[in-house]
Amino acid sequence: MQLEENNIVDQFGRVHDYLRISLTERCNLRCFYCMPEEGIALRPKAEFMNTDEVIRMAETFVSLGVKKIRITGGEPLVRSDAKQILEKLSKLPVELAITTNGILIDKFFYTIKTSGIRSINVSLDSLDKEKFNSITRRNDFDKVISNINLLLDENYHVKVNAVVIKGVNENEIVNFVQWTSDKNIHVRFIEFMPFDGNKWDFSKVVSMDAILSKVRERFGEKVTRISDRKNDTSKNYSIAGFKGTFAIISSVTNPFCDTCNRLRLTADGKIKNCLFSDSETDLLSAMRRGEDIVPLIRKSVWNKKEKLGGITSFENLEKRKNRAMISIGG
Ligand code: SF4
Repeated sequence: MQLEENNIVDQFGRVHDYLRISLTERCNLRCFYCMPEEGIALRPKAEFMNTDEVIRMAETFVSLGVKKIRITGGEPLVRSDAKQILEKLSKLPVELAITTNGILIDKFFYTIKTSGIRSINVSLDSLDKEKFNSITRRNDFDKVISNINLLLDENYHVKVNAVVIKGVNENEIVNFVQWTSDKNIHVRFIEFMPFDGNKWDFSKVVSMDAILSKVRERFGEKVTRISDRKNDTSKNYSIAGFKGTFAIISSVTNPFCDTCNRLRLTADGKIKNCLFSDSETDLLSAMRRGEDIVPLIRKSVWNKKEKLGGITSFENLEKRKNRAMISIGG
Protein backbone atom coordinates (compact mmCIF):
# COMPACT_ATOMS: atom_id res chain seq x y z
CA MET A 1 0.00 0.00 0.00
CA GLN A 2 1.63 3.31 -1.12
CA LEU A 3 1.10 5.20 2.14
CA GLU A 4 2.43 8.51 0.92
CA GLU A 5 0.82 8.83 -2.51
CA ASN A 6 -2.90 8.49 -2.01
CA ASN A 7 -3.40 8.25 1.67
CA ILE A 8 -3.75 10.84 4.36
CA VAL A 9 -1.64 9.66 7.29
CA ASP A 10 -0.86 11.26 10.65
CA GLN A 11 2.37 10.93 12.59
CA PHE A 12 0.92 7.96 14.51
CA GLY A 13 0.42 6.00 11.31
CA ARG A 14 -3.38 6.34 11.29
CA VAL A 15 -4.79 6.34 7.75
CA HIS A 16 -7.71 8.76 7.37
CA ASP A 17 -10.26 7.50 4.85
CA TYR A 18 -13.54 8.71 6.41
CA LEU A 19 -14.64 12.30 5.85
CA ARG A 20 -17.59 13.94 7.62
CA ILE A 21 -18.84 16.96 5.71
CA SER A 22 -21.02 19.48 7.55
CA LEU A 23 -23.29 21.07 4.94
CA THR A 24 -24.77 23.81 7.15
CA GLU A 25 -24.87 25.45 10.57
CA ARG A 26 -28.63 25.76 10.29
CA CYS A 27 -31.14 23.35 11.81
CA ASN A 28 -34.87 22.94 12.22
CA LEU A 29 -34.39 21.85 15.83
CA ARG A 30 -32.82 23.62 18.80
CA CYS A 31 -31.32 20.82 20.89
CA PHE A 32 -29.97 22.48 24.03
CA TYR A 33 -26.70 20.46 24.08
CA CYS A 34 -25.94 21.34 20.44
CA MET A 35 -27.29 24.78 19.70
CA PRO A 36 -26.37 27.40 22.28
CA GLU A 37 -29.41 28.94 24.04
CA GLU A 38 -28.75 32.24 22.29
CA GLY A 39 -28.44 30.41 18.95
CA ILE A 40 -25.39 31.04 16.79
CA ALA A 41 -24.79 34.09 14.64
CA LEU A 42 -26.07 33.41 11.13
CA ARG A 43 -23.29 34.34 8.76
CA PRO A 44 -23.40 35.48 5.10
CA LYS A 45 -23.91 32.64 2.59
CA ALA A 46 -20.63 33.54 0.85
CA GLU A 47 -18.72 32.33 3.93
CA PHE A 48 -19.94 28.79 3.28
CA MET A 49 -19.07 26.23 0.63
CA ASN A 50 -21.41 26.45 -2.35
CA THR A 51 -22.63 23.32 -4.15
CA ASP A 52 -19.63 23.00 -6.47
CA GLU A 53 -17.13 23.73 -3.71
CA VAL A 54 -18.58 20.90 -1.60
CA ILE A 55 -18.14 18.52 -4.55
CA ARG A 56 -14.63 19.75 -5.41
CA MET A 57 -13.57 19.34 -1.78
CA ALA A 58 -15.05 15.82 -1.70
CA GLU A 59 -13.30 14.90 -4.97
CA THR A 60 -9.98 16.08 -3.57
CA PHE A 61 -10.37 14.00 -0.41
CA VAL A 62 -11.43 10.97 -2.48
CA SER A 63 -8.28 11.37 -4.56
CA LEU A 64 -6.38 11.14 -1.24
CA GLY A 65 -7.93 7.80 -0.33
CA VAL A 66 -11.21 8.75 1.38
CA LYS A 67 -13.62 5.81 1.03
CA LYS A 68 -16.55 6.96 3.14
CA ILE A 69 -18.31 10.34 3.28
CA ARG A 70 -20.91 11.15 5.92
CA ILE A 71 -23.13 14.19 5.41
CA THR A 72 -23.93 16.11 8.59
CA GLY A 73 -25.02 19.59 9.64
CA GLY A 74 -26.63 21.34 11.62
CA GLU A 75 -29.39 19.50 9.81
CA PRO A 76 -28.03 18.75 6.33
CA LEU A 77 -31.45 18.36 4.70
CA VAL A 78 -32.47 21.96 5.45
CA ARG A 79 -29.85 23.16 2.93
CA SER A 80 -31.65 24.27 -0.23
CA ASP A 81 -29.25 22.37 -2.53
CA ALA A 82 -29.04 19.21 -0.38
CA LYS A 83 -30.67 17.18 -3.17
CA GLN A 84 -28.09 18.24 -5.78
CA ILE A 85 -25.22 17.65 -3.38
CA LEU A 86 -26.39 14.12 -2.51
CA GLU A 87 -26.91 13.29 -6.19
CA LYS A 88 -23.44 14.59 -7.15
CA LEU A 89 -21.69 12.90 -4.21
CA SER A 90 -23.38 9.62 -5.10
CA LYS A 91 -21.33 9.64 -8.32
CA LEU A 92 -18.07 9.40 -6.33
CA PRO A 93 -16.51 5.97 -5.50
CA VAL A 94 -17.34 6.22 -1.82
CA GLU A 95 -19.76 4.81 0.75
CA LEU A 96 -22.23 7.66 1.32
CA ALA A 97 -23.97 8.04 4.67
CA ILE A 98 -25.98 10.73 6.41
CA THR A 99 -26.71 11.91 9.93
CA THR A 100 -30.05 13.71 10.24
CA ASN A 101 -32.61 14.60 12.87
CA GLY A 102 -35.12 12.67 10.77
CA ILE A 103 -37.76 15.36 10.28
CA LEU A 104 -37.29 15.71 6.48
CA ILE A 105 -36.49 12.09 5.57
CA ASP A 106 -39.83 11.50 3.85
CA LYS A 107 -39.34 14.63 1.71
CA PHE A 108 -35.89 13.37 0.61
CA PHE A 109 -36.74 9.68 0.47
CA TYR A 110 -36.42 9.33 -3.32
CA THR A 111 -33.08 11.21 -3.35
CA ILE A 112 -31.76 9.13 -0.45
CA LYS A 113 -32.80 5.97 -2.28
CA THR A 114 -31.33 6.95 -5.67
CA SER A 115 -28.09 8.25 -4.17
CA GLY A 116 -27.32 4.80 -2.85
CA ILE A 117 -27.34 5.75 0.84
CA ARG A 118 -28.04 2.57 2.81
CA SER A 119 -27.03 3.60 6.30
CA ILE A 120 -28.76 6.46 8.06
CA ASN A 121 -28.07 7.87 11.52
CA VAL A 122 -31.05 9.57 13.11
CA SER A 123 -30.46 11.73 16.19
CA LEU A 124 -33.17 11.07 18.80
CA ASP A 125 -32.54 11.57 22.50
CA SER A 126 -35.92 10.63 23.95
CA LEU A 127 -38.80 8.25 23.27
CA ASP A 128 -41.01 10.50 25.38
CA LYS A 129 -42.79 13.14 23.32
CA GLU A 130 -42.82 15.82 26.05
CA LYS A 131 -39.18 15.30 26.83
CA PHE A 132 -38.32 15.37 23.10
CA ASN A 133 -40.03 18.75 22.91
CA SER A 134 -38.11 20.06 25.90
CA ILE A 135 -34.74 18.81 24.60
CA THR A 136 -35.25 20.02 21.03
CA ARG A 137 -37.38 23.05 21.78
CA ARG A 138 -39.57 21.90 18.89
CA ASN A 139 -42.61 19.62 18.45
CA ASP A 140 -41.56 17.12 15.75
CA PHE A 141 -41.52 13.85 17.72
CA ASP A 142 -44.24 12.08 15.73
CA LYS A 143 -42.61 13.07 12.45
CA VAL A 144 -39.24 11.68 13.48
CA ILE A 145 -40.76 8.39 14.70
CA SER A 146 -42.85 7.92 11.55
CA ASN A 147 -39.79 8.60 9.38
CA ILE A 148 -37.74 6.08 11.33
CA ASN A 149 -40.49 3.54 10.73
CA LEU A 150 -40.51 4.48 7.03
CA LEU A 151 -36.80 3.67 6.81
CA LEU A 152 -37.24 0.39 8.70
CA ASP A 153 -40.11 -0.63 6.44
CA GLU A 154 -37.74 -0.02 3.51
CA ASN A 155 -35.02 -2.14 5.15
CA TYR A 156 -32.58 0.65 5.74
CA HIS A 157 -29.80 0.21 8.28
CA VAL A 158 -31.01 2.70 10.88
CA LYS A 159 -28.81 3.83 13.72
CA VAL A 160 -30.43 6.01 16.37
CA ASN A 161 -27.96 8.34 18.11
CA ALA A 162 -29.04 9.27 21.64
CA VAL A 163 -26.88 11.66 23.66
CA VAL A 164 -27.29 10.57 27.30
CA ILE A 165 -27.25 13.40 29.85
CA LYS A 166 -27.60 12.96 33.61
CA GLY A 167 -30.92 14.26 34.88
CA VAL A 168 -32.32 14.47 31.34
CA ASN A 169 -32.73 11.06 29.71
CA GLU A 170 -30.62 8.43 31.48
CA ASN A 171 -33.92 7.03 32.81
CA GLU A 172 -34.78 6.07 29.21
CA ILE A 173 -31.78 3.84 28.56
CA VAL A 174 -33.76 0.64 29.19
CA ASN A 175 -36.67 1.88 27.03
CA PHE A 176 -34.31 2.53 24.12
CA VAL A 177 -32.85 -0.98 24.44
CA GLN A 178 -36.35 -2.46 24.74
CA TRP A 179 -37.16 -0.69 21.46
CA THR A 180 -34.65 -3.01 19.75
CA SER A 181 -36.63 -6.10 20.80
CA ASP A 182 -38.92 -6.09 17.77
CA LYS A 183 -37.27 -3.42 15.62
CA ASN A 184 -34.12 -4.03 13.56
CA ILE A 185 -32.74 -0.76 14.90
CA HIS A 186 -29.26 0.08 16.24
CA VAL A 187 -29.44 2.39 19.22
CA ARG A 188 -26.16 4.17 20.02
CA PHE A 189 -25.82 5.87 23.38
CA ILE A 190 -23.39 8.79 23.13
CA GLU A 191 -21.60 10.14 26.21
CA PHE A 192 -22.26 13.87 26.61
CA MET A 193 -19.27 15.81 25.22
CA PRO A 194 -18.06 19.39 25.79
CA PHE A 195 -18.64 21.90 22.97
CA ASP A 196 -18.98 25.66 22.99
CA GLY A 197 -22.20 26.85 24.53
CA ASN A 198 -23.60 23.48 25.66
CA LYS A 199 -23.07 24.05 29.38
CA TRP A 200 -21.19 20.74 29.57
CA ASP A 201 -19.98 19.56 32.93
CA PHE A 202 -18.31 16.26 33.77
CA SER A 203 -20.98 15.63 36.40
CA LYS A 204 -23.61 15.49 33.63
CA VAL A 205 -21.82 12.64 31.84
CA VAL A 206 -23.44 9.18 32.05
CA SER A 207 -20.47 6.92 31.51
CA MET A 208 -20.32 3.77 29.42
CA ASP A 209 -20.06 1.71 32.61
CA ALA A 210 -23.13 3.40 34.08
CA ILE A 211 -25.12 2.81 30.88
CA LEU A 212 -24.08 -0.85 30.75
CA SER A 213 -24.93 -1.48 34.38
CA LYS A 214 -28.43 -0.06 33.86
CA VAL A 215 -28.92 -2.39 30.88
CA ARG A 216 -27.48 -5.38 32.75
CA GLU A 217 -29.69 -4.61 35.75
CA ARG A 218 -32.74 -5.05 33.50
CA PHE A 219 -31.58 -7.73 30.99
CA GLY A 220 -28.96 -9.61 33.01
CA GLU A 221 -27.28 -12.52 31.21
CA LYS A 222 -29.05 -11.75 27.97
CA VAL A 223 -26.67 -8.81 27.35
CA THR A 224 -24.15 -9.99 24.76
CA ARG A 225 -21.02 -8.21 23.56
CA ILE A 226 -20.92 -8.34 19.73
CA SER A 227 -17.94 -7.62 17.49
CA ASP A 228 -17.05 -4.07 16.52
CA ARG A 229 -16.15 -3.19 12.96
CA LYS A 230 -12.69 -1.82 12.10
CA ASN A 231 -12.43 1.88 13.09
CA ASP A 232 -15.78 1.59 14.90
CA THR A 233 -16.47 4.46 17.30
CA SER A 234 -18.94 2.36 19.25
CA LYS A 235 -18.77 -0.69 21.46
CA ASN A 236 -21.57 -2.97 20.32
CA TYR A 237 -23.99 -5.17 22.25
CA SER A 238 -27.25 -7.03 21.77
CA ILE A 239 -29.89 -8.61 23.93
CA ALA A 240 -30.35 -12.32 23.17
CA GLY A 241 -33.44 -12.77 21.01
CA PHE A 242 -33.80 -9.09 20.16
CA LYS A 243 -33.97 -7.99 16.50
CA GLY A 244 -31.80 -4.88 16.91
CA THR A 245 -28.65 -3.96 18.80
CA PHE A 246 -27.33 -1.17 21.00
CA ALA A 247 -23.94 0.41 21.34
CA ILE A 248 -22.06 2.99 23.37
CA ILE A 249 -19.85 5.80 22.06
CA SER A 250 -17.62 6.58 25.01
CA SER A 251 -15.43 9.49 23.90
CA VAL A 252 -15.25 10.90 27.42
CA THR A 253 -14.67 7.89 29.67
CA ASN A 254 -13.26 5.37 27.19
CA PRO A 255 -11.89 7.14 24.09
CA PHE A 256 -11.10 5.14 20.96
CA CYS A 257 -8.57 7.41 19.28
CA ASP A 258 -5.98 4.75 18.45
CA THR A 259 -8.02 3.58 15.46
CA CYS A 260 -9.34 7.00 14.42
CA ASN A 261 -9.74 7.38 10.64
CA ARG A 262 -12.03 10.42 10.76
CA LEU A 263 -11.65 13.95 9.43
CA ARG A 264 -14.19 16.75 9.48
CA LEU A 265 -14.89 19.46 6.93
CA THR A 266 -16.97 22.28 8.35
CA ALA A 267 -19.68 24.05 6.33
CA ASP A 268 -17.38 27.07 6.00
CA GLY A 269 -14.68 24.89 4.43
CA LYS A 270 -12.27 24.35 7.31
CA ILE A 271 -10.67 20.98 8.06
CA LYS A 272 -10.76 19.79 11.67
CA ASN A 273 -8.36 16.88 12.16
CA CYS A 274 -10.20 15.87 15.36
CA LEU A 275 -13.62 16.48 16.90
CA PHE A 276 -11.92 18.17 19.87
CA SER A 277 -9.09 19.90 18.01
CA ASP A 278 -8.77 23.56 18.92
CA SER A 279 -7.13 24.35 15.58
CA GLU A 280 -8.55 24.33 12.05
CA THR A 281 -7.18 24.91 8.57
CA ASP A 282 -9.08 27.09 6.10
CA LEU A 283 -9.28 25.08 2.85
CA LEU A 284 -12.07 27.12 1.28
CA SER A 285 -10.23 30.44 1.10
CA ALA A 286 -7.19 28.67 -0.37
CA MET A 287 -9.39 26.89 -2.92
CA ARG A 288 -11.02 30.20 -3.87
CA ARG A 289 -7.52 31.71 -4.36
CA GLY A 290 -6.85 28.85 -6.79
CA GLU A 291 -4.25 27.24 -4.51
CA ASP A 292 -3.62 23.48 -4.17
CA ILE A 293 -5.33 22.40 -0.92
CA VAL A 294 -3.66 18.95 -0.74
CA PRO A 295 -0.56 20.18 1.15
CA LEU A 296 -2.86 21.94 3.66
CA ILE A 297 -4.83 18.74 4.21
CA ARG A 298 -1.67 16.67 4.67
CA LYS A 299 -0.18 19.19 7.10
CA SER A 300 -3.36 19.40 9.17
CA VAL A 301 -3.59 15.63 9.48
CA TRP A 302 0.12 15.18 10.15
CA ASN A 303 -0.23 17.55 13.09
CA LYS A 304 -3.19 15.67 14.56
CA LYS A 305 -2.83 14.97 18.27
CA GLU A 306 -2.58 11.34 19.40
CA LYS A 307 -5.87 11.54 21.22
CA LEU A 308 -8.82 13.79 22.03
CA GLY A 309 -7.28 16.74 20.22
CA GLY A 310 -4.81 17.05 23.06
CA ILE A 311 -7.33 16.96 25.91
CA THR A 312 -5.61 15.14 28.78
CA SER A 313 -8.49 14.97 31.23
CA PHE A 314 -12.20 15.61 30.89
CA GLU A 315 -12.62 15.67 34.64
CA ASN A 316 -10.45 18.80 34.93
CA LEU A 317 -11.14 20.11 31.48
CA GLU A 318 -9.55 23.54 31.09
CA LYS A 319 -11.35 26.09 28.95
CA ARG A 320 -10.66 25.19 25.32
CA LYS A 321 -11.47 26.94 22.08
CA ASN A 322 -13.76 24.76 19.99
CA ARG A 323 -16.99 25.23 18.10
CA ALA A 324 -20.58 24.60 19.09
CA MET A 325 -21.64 21.11 17.96
CA ILE A 326 -24.06 22.73 15.48
CA SER A 327 -21.10 24.00 13.46
CA ILE A 328 -19.05 20.79 13.60
CA GLY A 329 -21.68 18.21 12.78
CA GLY A 330 -20.55 15.51 15.22
S1 SF4 B 1 -11.48 12.38 19.75
FE1 SF4 B 1 -10.42 12.97 17.88
S2 SF4 B 1 -8.79 11.47 17.62
FE2 SF4 B 1 -10.22 10.65 19.11
S3 SF4 B 1 -11.61 9.37 17.94
FE3 SF4 B 1 -12.56 11.40 18.07
S4 SF4 B 1 -11.88 12.51 16.26
FE4 SF4 B 1 -10.55 10.73 16.50
